[in-house]
Order: sequence, then structure tokens, then C-alpha cells
Amino acid sequence: MRCTRCGGKAWIDLRRHNAAYCDGCFLRYVEEQVTRALRKEGMFALGDRVLVAVSGGKDSLALWDLLQRLGHRTAGLHLDLGIEGYSSLSRRKVEAFAAARGLELIVVDYRERLGVGIDQLYRRVRRTPCSACGLSKRYFFNAVAHEGGFDVVATGHNLDDEAASLLGNLLHWKTGYLAHQSPVLESPHPRMVKKVKPLFRLTERETAAYALLRGIDYVVEECPLAEGARSLLYKEVLNRLEQHSPGAKHNFLFGYLDVGRAAFREVEGTVDLRDCERCGQPTTGAVCAFCRMMELL
Ligand code: SF4
Ligand code: ZN
Repeated sequence: MRCTRCGGKAWIDLRRHNAAYCDGCFLRYVEEQVTRALRKEGMFALGDRVLVAVSGGKDSLALWDLLQRLGHRTAGLHLDLGIEGYSSLSRRKVEAFAAARGLELIVVDYRERLGVGIDQLYRRVRRTPCSACGLSKRYFFNAVAHEGGFDVVATGHNLDDEAASLLGNLLHWKTGYLAHQSPVLESPHPRMVKKVKPLFRLTERETAAYALLRGIDYVVEECPLAEGARSLLYKEVLNRLEQHSPGAKHNFLFGYLDVGRAAFREVEGTVDLRDCERCGQPTTGAVCAFCRMMELL
């Protein structure tokens, strides 16, 4: 197999693009996909301050590495969720990554800040682990970005993540989520920071291949609290479709973004935001969902 670009020995084949690349041309392909995502979706420009949410997994570390290589001004944000036997490993990987490259890293330690880790918190507030965790993550991503004067928060969601979440939202006709399913969420309020997903044009296999080529040491283990059965099933279904017709996953997601997204946004309309009485963050009610959750602790 020959590299589609330079004719050298190919290292990876990308059936959906009907292409194969050597390692050097693959790295260029990945950079081009991210640059295209940034430009086409208007995510951010050179000089903007980008807060990269880094869990310690391959996608978020690959994203931080890529943005640095492309010359962007970044800092990492790691949430140490305090999950026994898992969070300390994730934190060590992120800290080692940042230290080796001399990058700024902000860590929010849940046990110090909230008094408990997520593995305790979700039980006490009677939520599922991922619901309590997801709510707290959204809160801290925004709070830290706003306090630190960042222009944008970037997360490592890839094409597989986005396609699986689109399938889940469509199967249950979650119109509110569908309206917000986008690689860019503009800031609707001065204290709500813009959110972007620069890896949405790359598949999970491609981000893993990038991390491997770049020698990135990441956490391979899954979170022990993951309720991922459903999203894994959606990914499996989409992978089967992809095997049958390469490009199916890409077309599903990009077709939605081109055609469906605007329609759902129209249905949902806009919401009025005001300041949370407790923490001051923007919310639709008097007290934000995070503060309401924390009252139950
Ligand atoms: Fe949090 Fe759930 Fe992700 Fe674990 S799997 S880090 S609990 S959202
Ligand atoms: Zn609040």
C-alpha cells in the first residue's frame, strides 16, 4: 500500500477518504482537518486564549498537542474527579504531559473544592454518576474559563463521539439537545464562554493513531463509573454501518450539521438567562443546576 500523497510506504489507510498515508503525510492530514474545523466553523483564531479541557485520555491530550503545534495560546484544565484508583492516574498523565512541554495547567481537585469525589457525590445527590459528573464538568469548564479570561473552551470530542450522541438524541427525539448539537456553541451571555470541538472531523481511530505517532502517554483505562453501555452500542451500530459503506458515519454527522441543525435551532428558539442567586453564573432559573445539586450534598 502506497501513500496517496507522496507515494512512500503507507502507514494507515482511511477508507472513508479512499486514501492511505505514510506517517508524515498522516500528521499533515490531521493538522489540516483541525485547521479546517477551526476556520470553517469560526472556532477561534491565532492569538485567542484557549482553555483545553484535558481528562488524560487520548483525544484531549492529542487536541492539546495539536493546538500547541499549530501555534495557539493554550492552557490545560484538568478536573481531578476524586474517583478512587482512577483519577490519580489520569492526573499524573496530564501533569507529566504539561510538565514535559512546559505548558500551563490548571487543576480543580474535587475532594479539596467540594469535599467529596464524584464517586461519593452522585450517591448523595441521588443522580447517576455521569449526570452529576457532566453537570459539574460543564460548571467548572465555564467558571474557570470565565475567571481566567479565556476566549474559548476546547474539548476533545471526535467524530465518533458526535455521531453517537446525534444517534442517541435522534432515537429519543431530544429536541433541546439536537438544537445544541454542534461543534461550536457561541456564548449566549457575557459570563458564558464559547465552547468548541476542534476534533469533530477526525474519527476515534485517527486520534488514537495521532497519539501513537506523537508518542503521547495517555490513560487507556475507562472510567469505572461509566454508564457507557448505551453510547458504546451506538458507536458499534455506526461502526457496522461504516464497515458496510465507508463514509456513512461522516455523512450522518455532517449531513445533520448542514441540513438538520438549523431546523432544530428554530424550533427551540432562544432562552432568557439571568444570574444564579448563589454563584452568579448564567442560568434560566433563580438558582443554577449546579448550585441546586450542591444543596443536596
Ligand atoms: Fe464522569 Fe461518567 Fe465520564 Fe466517568 S464516565 S468521567 S462519571 S461523565
Ligand atoms: Zn449557581
